[in-house]
Amino acid sequence: GLILAIESSCDETSAAVIKNGDTILSNIVASQIKSHMRFGGVVPEVASRHHVEQITQIVEASLEKARVTMEDIDAVAVTEGPGLVGSLLIGVSAAKALAFANSKPLIATNHIAGHIYANQLVQPLQFPLLALVVSGGHTELVYMPEDGVFETIGETRDDAAGEAYDKIGRVLGLPYPGGKVLDEMAHEGKETLNFPRAMLQEDNYDFSFSGLKSAVINTIHNARQKGDDIDPYDIAASFQAAVVEVLVAKTIRAAKEKPIKQLLLAGGVAANKGLREALRNAVAKELDEVELIIPPLSLCGDNAAMIGAAAYSQYQNQDFAQLSLNARPGLLL
Ligand code: ATP
Ligand code: MG
Ligand code: FE
Repeated sequence: GLILAIESSCDETSAAVIKNGDTILSNIVASQIKSHMRFGGVVPEVASRHHVEQITQIVEASLEKARVTMEDIDAVAVTEGPGLVGSLLIGVSAAKALAFANSKPLIATNHIAGHIYANQLVQPLQFPLLALVVSGGHTELVYMPEDGVFETIGETRDDAAGEAYDKIGRVLGLPYPGGKVLDEMAHEGKETLNFPRAMLQEDNYDFSFSGLKSAVINTIHNARQKGDDIDPYDIAASFQAAVVEVLVAKTIRAAKEKPIKQLLLAGGVAANKGLREALRNAVAKELDEVELIIPPLSLCGDNAAMIGAAAYSQYQNQDFAQLSLNARPGLLL
């Protein structure tokens, strides 16, 4: 099965052609980061306008790169949510138009499922598995007893990990999104400050990052007020150490308590070097017979290839959407 997939939930306009849910024939991603940078974050109206301007040529480019035409395509998949309503609507409208005009089935796919299934483009998935989803809007542990079945066993009670990165980046005056830059800075700095590790000892799989975020921001403000020198690289290293320690510890604990074959890392923050390394080390040391899959950097951030991967099991189950499909900004797994 050949799936044309479209992703437009936030500030990336993307289209991909995916074969059998595991092979990328094309994956075109147009990032809008430059347009949002001067505002220090994603401006929804600006994002929608860019999606409208880009979507047709991105879809065409993805077909061309894959060397296929709409006739070869078996289904059109699109992110129906979660995300920004205006952004989602552009992708949903484009997918509906393509499906209708070419008499192809339409598949409505969950963006977070997409982040998880990005791993299927790396290795065949084996169930049961556990996925740590860390992105701009989500931080959760998802248990999958079988293909297409999602149980969220823990999640953040406040900020997502990526959100904490981006807000601290903003206070430090770093370009948006701050996550990538802070990660690089963390590797240049020393862990001189001991920031809180929230909920580390608690007997659940939930997370909390707002206390950590406030502690870091207060430290920066206090130092500025007193005219003290603080090294932003040390702040980055200390903050990242706290985030990574909690994420890894809770994930390993869940992985030990669930009968899993694989552990997957997913979402934009999966690009974090510190997290990738710490998780690899912890799995090697503490989990026997669990296969760890970490997506390449190109599949961590938002992209349509992951939507095409997630859509494949829906395609096999003939889980098709109506042409009346609407965007669902608050969609849960
Ligand atoms: P969601 O997937 O929850 O709907 P989103 O799609 O906006 O949200 P993603 O695109 O999946 O989020 O991820 C973007 C986030 O990843 C941003 O917060 C960004 O700062 C963060 N990020 C990207 N690279 C890194 C990195 N190397 N270290 C930490 N964070 C990173
Ligand atoms: Mg983005
Ligand atoms: Fe995302």
